[in-house]
Amino acid sequence: MAASRFDYQRYWTESLARAVACQTISARKRMGAPSDAYICGLLSGIGRLALACVHPQAYADVLAQTSPRTTDLELARVEQQVFDMDHRELGAAMLRDWHLPDPYAHAIETFAASPADDPANSDRVATMLRLLLRVSSSIAQLLLDDAANRPALWSQVEVWAKEVQMSTQEFIATCDQIAREWQDWGKTLAIRTSKVDPFTEIAARAAEAFAARGPEIALAADAPTTPDESDGVPASNPAAIEPLTILAIDDDAVLRRLLLTHLKRTGHNLISAPNGKAGLQAALEHGPHVIITDWMMPEMDGLELVKQIRRIELGKDIHILMLTGREEEDRVVEAFEAGVDDVVTKPFNPRILLSRVSSGERIVRLREQVSTDRRKMEDQVAELAILNRRLNNSSNTDALTQVANRRYGVAELEDQWNKTQSLAVIMLDLDHFKRVNDSFGHDAGDQVLREAAKVLGANVRKSDTVCRMGGEEFMVILPDTTTEEANTVAERLRNALASHVIRHGTFEGHVTASLGIAVRKPDMEHSTALYKAADEAVYVSKQSGRNRVSFAA
Ligand code: GH3
Ligand code: MG
Ligand code: MG
Repeated sequence: MAASRFDYQRYWTESLARAVACQTISARKRMGAPSDAYICGLLSGIGRLALACVHPQAYADVLAQTSPRTTDLELARVEQQVFDMDHRELGAAMLRDWHLPDPYAHAIETFAASPADDPANSDRVATMLRLLLRVSSSIAQLLLDDAANRPALWSQVEVWAKEVQMSTQEFIATCDQIAREWQDWGKTLAIRTSKVDPFTEIAARAAEAFAARGPEIALAADAPTTPDESDGVPASNPAAIEPLTILAIDDDAVLRRLLLTHLKRTGHNLISAPNGKAGLQAALEHGPHVIITDWMMPEMDGLELVKQIRRIELGKDIHILMLTGREEEDRVVEAFEAGVDDVVTKPFNPRILLSRVSSGERIVRLREQVSTDRRKMEDQVAELAILNRRLNNSSNTDALTQVANRRYGVAELEDQWNKTQSLAVIMLDLDHFKRVNDSFGHDAGDQVLREAAKVLGANVRKSDTVCRMGGEEFMVILPDTTTEEANTVAERLRNALASHVIRHGTFEGHVTASLGIAVRKPDMEHSTALYKAADEAVYVSKQSGRNRVSFAA
């Protein structure tokens, strides 16, 4: 649970970055009043802070399911599951409560969603603030990440330049200014910030990474994606992108060669086959991500091949592109029905073919992302189940001694009461325990309690239950136990305690206990009668000199 604590420091570091970015861009592009933008950026995550402060326990659940890189939108989804509301709604409501201008609240409420979901009723100021928040949260995300990850995030940040009508050059200069002001404000406000390389450096390193992966990948990575769609770094980190495997099938050797030559430029792994049958075999063997196939071929034609591939599990996710001649033009519908994803007419224009491969790649990557996300979600559900068990456990366990608590003990006694007639209970109270506290301190007292609980646990059967009823008072439940057996156990516990030496700080010695035994009798109406009787027996032991065992009357 400790790992799921709300990171207040990070929260303010991020809020400050958003605020400064909003202000800087607003000032440079004359988008509204910079001070409005600053406040909006600073308060853009206030709902998160509020939820974490008001419901720290439940919010730990939310954090356990997310990471600092989780988008606001995804975070809101998880919050909805836990709270039936999310930080965006709450933040907006708080701003309205504080009588801040309504466009602030509106922008804060809506900026995390995809632009496609923008409400139609946003006024001009709200729309502007929303855009500023989007750009700023993207920049802030980059600033908050490790220096090594920043170039990978640049492609996501850079797409916003156009949205705020800046050239790349101007945008880079703006980002430099934001980083500087973030650090300055951080010093003034005692908020942690970090060192940032010049953005020309960051952009250059991003470009180098793309170039190293080949033009096709650079194309895909350059494609504008809103930050909402790409959840954080790994997906957009070009260094982490594995090339795809593409299978090219054509019976015409010259065409096949031509196809491979063009495809080579994409940097992907290539395999080829001269007809449908060999193609199917190659597909089964290599599990390609993309297949480009001719239609008319001997042995097995393209249409038949596609049908076969779609029939097997492995083939369902392959992106299939079919080359169609003039004579097949009328039958394109048939091809799509067979399971083809896309068609390119022959003779193909290489640029068109490559752009179709590239869009195929995007689909493949998206699918992979979805299945990774699903896997991640499954992992999270499993983790949640573990968390749940731990929570359950802690509600049954005494935090100090780790034996069962009173709640569990009373319920367990009731359980056993309903199961068996032959039931005994030992109640036990440490003798003069207050003296340990008074003379050696509360910590020593705690240690005595821990060790006493351990001694008790070590001297009973597995089927018995030791629980701490409160203070220095314990109960042991003994199912299927006769009076004599209970006496034996009680004496064993008394001896074990009395002979166990405890050392803590200046304390060194042993503690004794007074014990009381009660055994279920036919005239007892309820399980509580059993431990009340045992309690009275404890009192008898105390009265008659302590460190002894007594039976209930
Ligand atoms: P007696 O032999 O009559 O039982 O005397 P006693 O001193 O053991 O009993 P008393 O009820 O007078 O004092 C019990 C003390 O236990 C008082 C309380 O401060 C202390 N105590 C209760 N819970 C804890 C705890 O969790 N940790 C520590 N260190 N002390 C505790
Ligand atoms: Mg006591
Ligand atoms: Mg007591």
